[in-house]
Amino acid sequence: MSERSATFHPTTPSTRSERLVIVGSVLMVIAILGIVAFLLVRERANAELSASRSAANIVQLIEADVLRNIELYDVSLLGLIAASRREDLMHVSPQIRHLALFDRATAAPYKGDILLLDQQGNVVADSASREPMKGNFADREYFQSHVNNSDPGMFISRPFRSRLANNEWRISFSRRISGAQGEFLGVAEAAMRLSYFEQLFNSLNIGPDSSISLINKDGILLAQVPRLGEDLTGSDFSSRPNFQRIVKEGNGSFSSVSSRYQDQRLYTFSQVGNLPLIVIVALSGAEVFASWQRTALVVSLATIALCACLLWLTWLLCRELRLRHHAELELAQLAATDALTGLANRRTLDQTLRHEWFRAQRSGKPLSLLMIDADHFKAFNDRHGHQAGDEALRAVANVLRTHVRRPADLVARYGGEEFSVVLPETDMAGAQQIAERIREAVEQLPPIDGTDSPITVSIGISTWNACSDINLEVLMFAADKALYQAKETGRNRVVAL
Ligand code: GH3
Ligand code: MG
Ligand code: MG
Repeated sequence: MSERSATFHPTTPSTRSERLVIVGSVLMVIAILGIVAFLLVRERANAELSASRSAANIVQLIEADVLRNIELYDVSLLGLIAASRREDLMHVSPQIRHLALFDRATAAPYKGDILLLDQQGNVVADSASREPMKGNFADREYFQSHVNNSDPGMFISRPFRSRLANNEWRISFSRRISGAQGEFLGVAEAAMRLSYFEQLFNSLNIGPDSSISLINKDGILLAQVPRLGEDLTGSDFSSRPNFQRIVKEGNGSFSSVSSRYQDQRLYTFSQVGNLPLIVIVALSGAEVFASWQRTALVVSLATIALCACLLWLTWLLCRELRLRHHAELELAQLAATDALTGLANRRTLDQTLRHEWFRAQRSGKPLSLLMIDADHFKAFNDRHGHQAGDEALRAVANVLRTHVRRPADLVARYGGEEFSVVLPETDMAGAQQIAERIREAVEQLPPIDGTDSPITVSIGISTWNACSDINLEVLMFAADKALYQAKETGRNRVVAL
């Protein structure tokens, strides 16, 4: 294309606003997603926090109850030991002696037998009957522990199945009876049915998939509720990573995958006083986060729908902006173009000529202007009609287009049957060459359909260069003058001034 189109800038306000709308919407979507994600994460943390708080309350409640009951057992044992040392009780009736020995033993719930064992492990007194049962418990773990250890503290045994009562699970609390020199005299022992713990745990509602456990420091399970599947009482959990972490931390809570159920669980745990027992509440993650998950699903779907709507509206807006932009471009094109020939119109010519004029002034490079006028065109019109005349003007415009090739050049219809060509950075000789080629090409145009008259043009040239001291109006006037001379001197010729 040799002809320069009207002056459009690559970034028009419309494409800028389109970009602005897209960037704004994307930022808005990112902000919405960010805020919603932040709120959901915070909600999840809150759900976990409130679950661990209520689990901690349950743990405390259990701890207090267990501690209180074990203290009752201990009081019984201490009472039994104190009474067994009293000389005066040796001389009272067995009935009174039994009452005195087991005076403090009545309050303990779920109690099994309370026994007084001698140095050999034989039963010398039994809370269940005045006549002590026949038995020897020297093989029991607690008995051996007291024989070998002078520690007067209370010993809590591992869970065991009772030989005396239906094989039920029990644990025993025992204390050593020492002589004045610390020598071993026997053991006071009280058994407790583990069903006490189960009854206690069952009174607390923690959800069907969550569990409460009491476990000793060696990892042996004393009680667990609910019993999922087989009875695990007495099982060893010491090798489980979660148990090891619980023993290490003592009190607190953490979230981890259960090695037994293979699901996420929130463990809250505490040691029972100074006793070697640990209460663990393991809340199922599915239960803890069930309500949060429902909320998160609804909020996420609503947010995605909202963002999709926003992006859809953005797309609609961008499409409208683009349509408007194209319409504006078309209008601008129309406003800058001559309808008959498709060349630049007079308005564009004036703008470009002024622009190139100032550019030439700055650069000092020459600027040439051609004024082209069809010869005897009135006569052509009169003879062949206006339609043929229009056709002839279009043919001349095509010749001009094909002969003016540089991007900065401009071909315009000045008005009627007159054309102008602006040739930046072109000196007089160059302009003459182009003008001569144009003149020749028009002369050689085949006759327009239905006509036999040849078309010719006269061309006037004026050139500004760094040496000339003229203004734009003078340049235009000079081109006009040259054209007039070309007409005067016989037409179909080029005159340069
Ligand atoms: P000269 O050689 O001196 O230029 O003579 P001329 O007849 O070309 O000049 P004049 O200025 O007397 O007439 C110009 C004519 O050009 C008048 C009009 O009939 C014709 N003309 C101007 N614009 C158009 C147009 O858009 N279409 C057609 N068909 N004719 C036009
Ligand atoms: Mg004319
Ligand atoms: Mg003319």
